[in-house]
Amino acid sequence: MNIHEYQAKALLRSYGLPVSDGRIVLRAEEAKAAAGELDGPLWVVKAQIHAGGRGKGRFREPEAGEKGGVRLARSVGEAAEEALRMLGRTLVTHQTGPAGKQVGRVYIEEGSDIARELYLALLIDRKTSRISFVCSTEGGMDIEEVAAHSPEKILTFSVDPATGIQGFHGRRIAFALGLEGKQVRQCVDLVTKLYRLFVDKDAEMIEINPLIVTPAGDLRCLDAKVGFDNNALYRQPDILSLRDETEEDPKELAASKFDLNYIALDGEIGCMVNGAGLAMATMDIIKLYGAAPANFLDVGGGATKEKVTEAFKIITSDPNVKGILVNIFGGIMRCDIIAEGVLAAVREVGLKVPLVVRLEGTNVELGKQIIRDSGLNVIAAENLSDAAAKIVAAVRG
Ligand code: GDP
Ligand code: MG
Repeated sequence: MNIHEYQAKALLRSYGLPVSDGRIVLRAEEAKAAAGELDGPLWVVKAQIHAGGRGKGRFREPEAGEKGGVRLARSVGEAAEEALRMLGRTLVTHQTGPAGKQVGRVYIEEGSDIARELYLALLIDRKTSRISFVCSTEGGMDIEEVAAHSPEKILTFSVDPATGIQGFHGRRIAFALGLEGKQVRQCVDLVTKLYRLFVDKDAEMIEINPLIVTPAGDLRCLDAKVGFDNNALYRQPDILSLRDETEEDPKELAASKFDLNYIALDGEIGCMVNGAGLAMATMDIIKLYGAAPANFLDVGGGATKEKVTEAFKIITSDPNVKGILVNIFGGIMRCDIIAEGVLAAVREVGLKVPLVVRLEGTNVELGKQIIRDSGLNVIAAENLSDAAAKIVAAVRG
């Protein structure tokens, strides 16, 4: 789960980390008062969306000469005006995809003067199974760009979970970032607190880009992107309360309410599969036969008829879906139960696109019989290749 920058900064502040003072604006009429509570002479107005690259992003239907989703203002009035200009509009950045994201919240912050822009992130390094710090002197820009053109400028330091965070981690990072004097002490403090926050809150990623050095030589977190491990949210109620459902894909949101592992993709074949491995294989074979999956969906080992119906509704609500492939291996699950679930779903939500069903495993003959006897227009498949070939053929007409 991701949170907004302003929420991430409140979290950083609660750990004693250096962030600027700011106010969130949810409604146009709050903008002026919010800006007025902050000190000048510089204000920063920032669109809050769950995507990076806002500064370089562009609004839909831009006014002449209009800048992106991070703007500087020189007065309270100007800051409020900029906030009003952003609210409700769609911001497109390299991370939102071409559809962009609608701006429902704007953060107004006291502006900082910048001497240097650095990059600092924490993430879980799967190779070492450790929390790692990634840092670079090339902050403020797209880190993927730095990785592509000057990978030597990105340094990684991992932390041994047995010993936890130590002073030398912060000093090494300070050295790598070219920090000196009091900044080294500030960096050790920053690194220690970020690590503590990461572990306490079950974070998956914390990215501070840019981490700045002010002209007075102090470190400050100017941007903050924080993501959390969804599987740990049950024990992080305060983090869960920060969830902004308007930022999520409505289909993924519906799926999460029914405990379905669903991820929307941009292909044309909707997939309903049990087991993550089989779901991955199904996506691969659809690709192999020349089409693309519209989603990843694992209904789980013990899917009920209700769950299958919900999964079906979510798939059919996607206008990109031109055909559906149901691929079920009945292990714990019996094929006849699945067949009944699929038919119940089809009867309830209707079927406007071709449907191919491939069943294998426990009670497979009974399952196939139920589908044959239903009189519904369901194409039966013998195996995975046959299923992929049939659904691709049906969709391509
Ligand atoms: P992003 O584009 O979504 O990553 O948003 P950021 O919060 O990183 O802002 C983009 C850029 O705006 C930063 O890299 C800075 O160069 C600039 N910026 C953000 N806040 C301030 C500020 O307080 N003062 C100044 N001078 N520039 C800022
Ligand atoms: Mg940034």
